[in-house]
Amino acid sequence: MSSDQHLQEIRESVKAICDSYGEDYWRKLDQTQGYPTEFVKEITDSGFLGCLIPEAYGGAGLGLIEACTILEEISRSGGHPGAAHAQMYVMGSVLKHGSEEQKQKYLPAIANGQLRLQSFGVTEPSTGTDTTSLKTTATRAGDTYKINGQKVWISRVQHSDLMVLLARTKSIEERSSKTDGLSCFIVDLRGAEERGLTIRPIDAMINHHACELFFDDFEVPAGNLLGEEHKGFRVVMDGMNAERILIGAECIGDARYFTDKATNYANSRIVFDRPIGQNQGISFPIATAYAQTEAAALMVEKAARLFDAGEACGPEANMAKMLAADASWKAGDTCLQTHGGFVISREYHIERKLRETRLYQIAPISTNLILSYLSEHVLGMPRSF
Ligand SMILES: Cc1cc2nc3c(=O)[nH]c(=O)nc-3n(C[C@H](O)[C@H](O)[C@H](O)COP(=O)(O)OP(=O)(O)OC[C@H]3O[C@@H](n4cnc5c(N)ncnc54)[C@H](O)[C@@H]3O)c2cc1C
Repeated sequence: MSSDQHLQEIRESVKAICDSYGEDYWRKLDQTQGYPTEFVKEITDSGFLGCLIPEAYGGAGLGLIEACTILEEISRSGGHPGAAHAQMYVMGSVLKHGSEEQKQKYLPAIANGQLRLQSFGVTEPSTGTDTTSLKTTATRAGDTYKINGQKVWISRVQHSDLMVLLARTKSIEERSSKTDGLSCFIVDLRGAEERGLTIRPIDAMINHHACELFFDDFEVPAGNLLGEEHKGFRVVMDGMNAERILIGAECIGDARYFTDKATNYANSRIVFDRPIGQNQGISFPIATAYAQTEAAALMVEKAARLFDAGEACGPEANMAKMLAADASWKAGDTCLQTHGGFVISREYHIERKLRETRLYQIAPISTNLILSYLSEHVLGMPRSF
């Protein structure tokens, strides 16, 4: 079977699942800040959520290109793939850096849906993008580490069984380099609120289930250290290329969703006795959004294929995320303009999708930080910070 045919089959299967939920499902969740429990169960049972987990650990053993196709299709169908994308890339750190014991313990249970690993705890309120300055500490005490500190904007903590957490195991004064002295842990969130973790949901513009976390002498077994002690920044960095490519694919799905909706409306809405799409002021922006989306999609595909081939893909992963996020935001704005006043009605779904896709100018990495990476590491200009 050709690669294109194989991806097309995945696309059709994911679309069939998404169509059975429909856009009103996501609209109601958005209004109630609900979690898509039934949808997550179905894409887990169908094997799509565990697609990146190797067959030896109960997954489908597919590559990032297939994972991108799955996320793109969820977005394109009007859904929100947050619960799916997080598990895909967070699981990658367990796969790459976990001990054999950790992999046996967690991966098959993640693949069959017994455990959800949808939470990734890095961002802190006082340090933001400056990850290597983070302040949450993990202090070794016998067979455990005691975690103290605060995190912010950590998604899906209340809907996940496990979280990968980044914390400081060496003080800033003791570290040998900026990235030394941080460690990753697999945190069991079940019953965590009785053990020193306070979770405060954030009232937010999009339904991302993001929370503030406060750790007060919260104990994590030493056996839950992920990768080497003090080298956790590497663990996080290794997952970032996959994360950026997957988010890029999601943005392509959003961009195609917006372009489809705009085109359909431009063809069907009659004003001054003709379809509004007959006016080039309407059709040209849609055509521009289409061209920008197709160009960004090529970069997402290139990055995913490099990743799957085990080749370095930092520049491509960053460019894929940035170009796709820009394409989806511009396509969303165009879609909104095409619909005139009607788009303000929530039943058109477009305002929800526009809010959701706006996030990707900021998270998981902002456009400025991507541009600074390209300026310094690809083009060789001086570091700006
Ligand atoms: C809905 C949502 C969900 C999230 N989920 C998670 C999660 O699950 N886990 C997690 O760990 N984090 C999560 N985040 C956090 C997210 O990754 C951060 O918000 C993001 O990395 C930006 O950090 P910040 O908000 O602290 O911005 P800041 O670092 O304060 O930056 C603010 C602005 O200044 C700019 N800026 C900062 N420094 C520079 C510089 N040197 N050069 C140029 N511009 C600069 C940035 O580009 C940005 O526009 C989430 C955020 C949101 C909003």
